[in-house]
Amino acid sequence: MIEQPTMVKICGILEESPGVKTFFFKLNLNFEPGQFVMVWIPLLDEKPFTVSYIQDDLLGISVLKKGGFTNALHSKKIGDTLGIRGPYGRGFSLKSDFNSCVVGGGIGMASLATLVDRLNLAVEEHLGNVTIIQGARTAAEIVYQNRFRDMKLCTEDGTAGIKGTTVDLLRDLLEKQRFRKVYACGPERMLYKVVELCKGRGIECEVSLERYIKCGFGVCGQCDCSGQRVCIDGPVFNREELSRMEDFGKIIITKTGERIIH
Ligand SMILES: Cc1cc2nc3c(=O)[nH]c(=O)nc-3n(C[C@H](O)[C@H](O)[C@H](O)COP(=O)(O)OP(=O)(O)OC[C@H]3O[C@@H](n4cnc5c(N)ncnc54)[C@H](O)[C@@H]3O)c2cc1C
Repeated sequence: MIEQPTMVKICGILEESPGVKTFFFKLNLNFEPGQFVMVWIPLLDEKPFTVSYIQDDLLGISVLKKGGFTNALHSKKIGDTLGIRGPYGRGFSLKSDFNSCVVGGGIGMASLATLVDRLNLAVEEHLGNVTIIQGARTAAEIVYQNRFRDMKLCTEDGTAGIKGTTVDLLRDLLEKQRFRKVYACGPERMLYKVVELCKGRGIECEVSLERYIKCGFGVCGQCDCSGQRVCIDGPVFNREELSRMEDFGKIIITKTGERIIH
């Protein structure tokens, strides 16, 4: 684990969609799917992002433009530097029995991308199947279309795939297909419904939670969810753990520490 940020140079930028850019840099990290790194822009801030591409020592983070920090990241050019510390957190548990469904809502797909790479390796070795569901508000927001060819898509406005949500699509699939495991990342309300669907059908499920993270290694308590520190006990939690976390899907803690209803 690296506690001090390592300064890296951006060596490539890929526009995944009008709002999402992937920044590539070289760094030797022992990163497991579902973990995250803290990205530092000196004199601005430090924020959590998952690693969405791993090709030996070439790593990529896919960033959705939202507020001050991500806008600053989007203005970075090849040759600019960023600080990276981590990896942190507990990622997805990968079992040898692969027949899974991966459900990504919006930029949540970034947290699932290296997991899909791993699961696809098992598919190549005929060890199972992976079904990928990606949902977005509109077609332009869909990411990784060239990377993952056989995704099942849904959009709120019906401009790509079915008109509806990832939960609708998963529910329909579960009528026809049996999965050993469902992995998901996206808005917490979506995750709550995915977990409920899996619970009702006795399917194993792991989801990656997005809570406000400050330190990244469990000391500040900012990312608490019912006594679990999302940065160190998660961000990935399984169905049984989530059933003991009353705040899941209901209460979030804001940047200033206020508990608010989701
Ligand atoms: C484990 C984890 C992995 C993530 N991976 C990615 C990723 O791969 N790609 C991506 O685009 N985004 C990812 N995020 C979200 C990303 O950290 C926020 O979008 C980013 O910090 C927003 O900063 P901002 O200043 O641009 O926006 P702001 O205007 O500050 O905030 C916009 C939104 O982002 C959330 N946010 C802001 N700061 C944080 C923070 N420190 N921790 C968590 N959420 C925050 C806010 O709650 C708000 O909903 C991840 C978050 C977590 C917790």
